[in-house]
Amino acid sequence: MLLARRLLVLLLAAAVPALPQAAKSKPVVWILSTGGTIASQGASSTSLTDYKAGVLTGRDLVKAVPEIAEVADVKVEQIANVGSPNITIAHWLTLATRINRIFTEEPATAGVVITHGTNTLEETAYFLNLTVKHDRPVVLVGSMRPATAISADGPLNLLNAVRTATSPAARGKGVLVVLNDEISAARDVTKTNTLRVETFRSPDSGYLGFVDGDQITFYRSPTRRHTTASEFDVQGLTELPAVEILYSYVQPSPILIQALLANGVKGIVMAGTGAGLVSDVEKAALAKAKGTVIVRSNRTGSGRVPPRQEYDSSGMIGADNLNPQKARILLMLALTKTTDLVEIRRMFAEY
Ligand code: ASP
Repeated sequence: MLLARRLLVLLLAAAVPALPQAAKSKPVVWILSTGGTIASQGASSTSLTDYKAGVLTGRDLVKAVPEIAEVADVKVEQIANVGSPNITIAHWLTLATRINRIFTEEPATAGVVITHGTNTLEETAYFLNLTVKHDRPVVLVGSMRPATAISADGPLNLLNAVRTATSPAARGKGVLVVLNDEISAARDVTKTNTLRVETFRSPDSGYLGFVDGDQITFYRSPTRRHTTASEFDVQGLTELPAVEILYSYVQPSPILIQALLANGVKGIVMAGTGAGLVSDVEKAALAKAKGTVIVRSNRTGSGRVPPRQEYDSSGMIGADNLNPQKARILLMLALTKTTDLVEIRRMFAEY
């Protein structure tokens, strides 16, 4: 009896120090790594433009930023290790499935960070914005300078992304992009410069907020449907309907349009001139499309494509202010559900 009581006292004493420890537990953040410049290596610290992307692992990146452990308990998973020109739709489907599973099966997860090359980061962000089914933060992060560079921007960007993923204010804002202390919305953001660290901008609508040393501040929220309000579900899919992009310019040949139609693509996004206009040559070639959905985006870098009778009457759909690469993603997802032009037009007005 006495022994049992002593044992109980000992057990309780052993349990006491565990309590403050438990109270100090940090938010859990998953880091899914895909490669990119943030995970790159150059020959020297001044190799700023010539380097190999997708060399370091996610674990290497986290190890290089011990400050992360002060704000989150991170779990790291390697999804790929490629330069982002080599990101594929299979990677997108893997990411969407994995993130949805993490949020469903690990309710303690505060948020997910994806390390990614900057070249196609905006596309992965918008795809996930439409296919992740949870309101907890998903933050894409990259860097413009290699990990081996003098003044590499990756480490602080990664810390800022993890901090954003733990921020209650980041919930419900859709997929976010964090670089250069700036927080952008997946739908609106685009890479605007080949080399500058302030490359990610949202030409029509600006940043959502900023990550500063003392706090994370949001100034606005996205208004278009995303994540929990999205009707798109890619669970179980292994590919998406084929949609290609064509760029308009002076005196284009019809052969690219003809080749795409002959190959049976399900959709074509035209990066039209000005407010989404194409030449008579392109119009004549596109008129031969039977069952291929044509979306008019624009090549200007910003702005909306308004309705225009001559295009609308032939069934072409305006991309609103989605750039061509984002319009392609929405069209691919739309085509997983319908080929009805009225429905697809609605989707371009809502997402
Ligand atoms: N910036 C590239 C990327 O998106 C990498 C590179 O420049 O090689 O991954």
